Amino acid sequence: MREGKQEFAEWLASRKLRVTGERMAVLDEVMRANGHIDIDYLQEQFRKQKRPVSRATIYRTLSHLVQSGLVQKVLTGEGQARYEKMYGRQHHDHMICLGCGEIIEFTNDEIERLQDWVCHKKRFTIVTHTLQIKGFCEKCSAQKASVEGGATDHRRHGRN
Ligand SMILES: [Zn+2]
Ligand SMILES: [Zn+2]
Repeated sequence: MREGKQEFAEWLASRKLRVTGERMAVLDEVMRANGHIDIDYLQEQFRKQKRPVSRATIYRTLSHLVQSGLVQKVLTGEGQARYEKMYGRQHHDHMICLGCGEIIEFTNDEIERLQDWVCHKKRFTIVTHTLQIKGFCEKCSAQKASVEGGATDHRRHGRN
């Protein structure tokens, strides 16, 4: 049985939502994918399988998956949504390059501890958190320095 299937079925049932073949197909594709994928990628997978799933269905199912905690949503520098599986994975945070769109994952115990401490001081109970640091990756920073003056010339060198 595909990862997360039972968990997602239970979550859907708890919201009085039906377990449909399309919803499960979206779950399957996100679990199968590596890295941070977008809706276009999923649509392409279904097209290749000759199994049309509408964009609206993909979008709504992704939002269910995010609410269920099985999937995490990451916003790129341009505000585009990317999705990654969280089922069976440890919590991590992201650095996002505004030049090439690269998404770098990281974890830092000290940052996690500080967040807990700040919330504790405010008597705030944490359920979840998302930390995204936006800036320029090593390559783009180097390029920026070399085109000094040409301000916003961040040539693209492919996505992760
Ligand atoms: Zn974190
Ligand atoms: Zn990630």
